[in-house]
Formats: sequence, C-alpha cells, structure tokens
Amino acid sequence: MSSGEGHSRRRSLAFRLTLWYGGIFAATSAFAFGLVYLLMLAVVQERTDEDLREDAAEFAAFMQEGGLDRVKREMQLETLGEEAEEVFFRLWSSGGREMASTDLSTWPALDVPPDELLRLEPGADPELETLPDFQDGHDVRVVYTAPAPGLVLEMGQSLAEDEEFIGTFLTGFLITLSGVVALGAPIGWFMARHALRGIRDVTRAASEIASGTLDRRVTVRSQGDELALLAQTFNTMLDRIQALMVGMREMTDNLAHDLRSPLARIRASAEMTLANGSGSANYEASACSTIEECDRLLDMINASLDIAEAESGAARLNMADIDLTALVDDAFELFNTVAEDKHLTLATILPTTCHVRGDRQRLQRVVANLLDNALKYTSAGGRVTLRLVDEPPQVRLSIEDTGVGIPPESMPRIFERFYRCDPSRSENGNGLGLSMALAFARAHGGDITVRSTLGEGSTFTVLLLAARDSPG
Ligand code: ADP
Repeated sequence: MSSGEGHSRRRSLAFRLTLWYGGIFAATSAFAFGLVYLLMLAVVQERTDEDLREDAAEFAAFMQEGGLDRVKREMQLETLGEEAEEVFFRLWSSGGREMASTDLSTWPALDVPPDELLRLEPGADPELETLPDFQDGHDVRVVYTAPAPGLVLEMGQSLAEDEEFIGTFLTGFLITLSGVVALGAPIGWFMARHALRGIRDVTRAASEIASGTLDRRVTVRSQGDELALLAQTFNTMLDRIQALMVGMREMTDNLAHDLRSPLARIRASAEMTLANGSGSANYEASACSTIEECDRLLDMINASLDIAEAESGAARLNMADIDLTALVDDAFELFNTVAEDKHLTLATILPTTCHVRGDRQRLQRVVANLLDNALKYTSAGGRVTLRLVDEPPQVRLSIEDTGVGIPPESMPRIFERFYRCDPSRSENGNGLGLSMALAFARAHGGDITVRSTLGEGSTFTVLLLAARDSPG
C-alpha cells in the first residue's frame, strides 16, 4: 500500500465511520461500566457496614449475657486462625486504657482511638470510619460501639476481599472491552465498506459517464434501501439526460435541415440568374425570391426567439381586457378565404362576448397558429370548427378539424420545437407553430391540450383564465 493510498483510506468515509463507531462504543461501554462499578462499590461497602453493625449489636448482647469475660472470649473466637489477618478487636476503657485485644501481629501499628469515640454511650449508634490503604494497601473499615457504660469495643475489618472482588471485575471488563474493540474495528470496517459499496458504484458509473459512456447505468443491488434509491434516482436522471440529448440532437438536425433548404433555394436561384444571363427582369425575380426565402428564415429565427423569451418568462406581456369572441371572429374572417380556397368549411360557435386578460398580439398568434394547422392538415371537403366556451373561472377555445389526425406515437412530441410528424415535410411549416402557441398560452397562465384520432381529425383546446369581471 503506497502512502497516498494510505492517506486516502484514512480520509475515506468507511474509515471515519469505523473510528466514530469504535470511539462511541468504547466511550459508552466505559461509562456504563463506571456506573456499574460505583454501584457495586456502594453495595459492597453497605454490606460490610451492615455486618459490622450486626457484630456490634451481638457484642452488646454478649456483654449483657456473660459480662466482660464473655466479650473477651468471643473476641478471641472471632479471630481464630487466619481470621486474625482480616479482623481485629480492641477493648477500651473510656479513660483511653486498652483493656484487651486480639492478635495484632499481622496488623500495622494502630493508634489509640480519638477521645470522642472513647466517650460513646451504650445504646448509641455505632460509629464507623475507614482507614485508607492501611493493611498491605487495602482499606480497613472500623466500628466503635459501647457494650456497657465506660467500655468501648473497637472492631476492624479488612476490605481486601471486597477490593479483590471488584478488582477481578475490573480486569474482566477491561479484557472484554479491548477484545470487543479489537474485534469490532475490522467488523465495523467491513460493514461500513459493505454499506458504502452502493455509493462506490454510483461514483464509478459517474466517472465512466464523465469520460463519455452516457449509456452506462448503476446496478441496483438491493431493493428499497437508501442506496438502491440513490442508484435508481441516478439511473432515472441519466435516462432523462440521455433523452434530452437525443431530443436536442434531433432538434439541431431539424434546424440544420430547415436552414439548409431555404439557403439551397437562394443559392440555386442566384446560380440560375447568373447562368441565364443578364436582364433586369431576371435579376428582379432573383432578388424577390431571395427576399422571400430570407423572410422565411427570419420568421423561423424570430419565432425561435419569441418562444425562448416566453418560456423563460422574460417576455413582457401587454395585458389588457380582451374580448375573445371578437378576436376569434377576426381570425375567422382572415382565414375564411384560405378555407374556401381549400374547399373546407370553417365554422364558429361563439358566445356573444367572452372576456379574458391577455396580450392581444400573442393570443392572436395562438389562434392563428392552431387555425393555420387545422386548415393545413385537413383535406378538401373537411370541416374546421372554432368553439369558444366561457365557463368561469375558465375559458376554453377548441379548434376542431376533420383532418389527417396525429399518429399516437407523435402525440407526446408535437409541442417540441422543430418537431413535425411528417418527416418528408410535404406541408409548409417550420415545426414551431405549436411550441409557440403553447409557450404563449403558458405565459398567460393557461395551457393547450390535444385529442386526435388518426384519419379522423384533431381537437386542440386552449385553456385560459376568464377575466374576473367577466359578464359570464
Ligand atoms: P408545422 O409548422 O409543421 O405545422 P407545428 O408545430 O405547428 O409545426 O406542428 C407540429 C406538427 O404537429 C405538424 O408538423 C403536424 O404534423 C402536427 N399537427 C399540428 N396540428 C395538426 C392538426 N390539426 N392535424 C394534424 N396534425 C397536426
């Protein structure tokens, strides 16, 4: 392992997670142990004190039953053999004279108890004190009691056994803890790495995609967990990006195609003029067709810019109160000649008035684009109906035709820029009419929906908000 690798491993999330888990686990275990340790210490101490108090009461009873001799005898009995190392007794007169004691050979030098302890009265609570690190480094707990007036019994109990018991517990715990930490670290590391495998997959896929393979996807290893969700979301995002890329490529191809045709026509016309020799009529015709083609190109470019402006919300709408009935009627007048020329019936079903707030010019273009399409894609003998329905808070303008209809597979795409269902582009148009109508309708807070049956006809419906003071 190189030092660079070691460095990045130390910085890795798996390493830091392991460290955090290990640290938190060790700290909480130590805290829990500390609590148990203190509790045990208190319980053990309480038990020793209880024993000592009981002994004190017993010796008071011995005094009553058998006098001083019985007390002395019991003192010796209690410290027979090895007990002498753990327990000692001394009997004091209240004047501070030692009247008897058990074998003190295994005990360090003991002081004379302080005066206030020697003045203890019979029946008073026994006094307890601790001599720290007294015997071979162990604490000694001492009780003072007065079995009879003028007499004080001192009993000492070594805490060596208790301390050893707690010491064994402490060692056991430390061994267990270090074992668990030593074992837990590699297990934690393994688990963290395993859990983060999904993230590594996503990272690897992302870097492969960055180097050009856009069709790469992340394998979804498990179902339902956060990493699977990340992988699925990532894949969905890639699908969408790929679809957008394909769409954009198609759009630029279409754009190139639509630019090429008029340019080729301009060039051909110029070439023909040159080949056919001079003559002002020739040049005039050529100039006219050039202007016509240029206008078409400019229209296309302007339409693209208008759509972009409306979609981005940058378009400033000249909002005014508009009577849609009058606006649709005007469009009817304008397009009726085209319809007659094509032997189509153009009809309107309109309320007397229908008020909306909107930008007159843009709404005119919405109606014109949809009506133009309806007439364009309907053959002779067909019928186009403009139907306006005012149902506050909504206004619906439908343009129904009995034309060629739209293939179902094209339906989701007809509002895309430059998209045309007929790839041979036999009809005039640039594929921008519907996207412009939709962009303008949406800029008004409205929408356009479409229903179509192939071979039977289509209905485009513009939805707009009715003006609030609409007369109904
Ligand atoms: P175009 O300039 O080609 O008309 P549009 O954006 O207006 O572009 O329409 C996109 C495509 O949707 C058209 O090429 C046409 O195939 C289809 N379309 C639009 N309106 C109708 C309609 N009323 N009937 C059938 N097809 C239609």
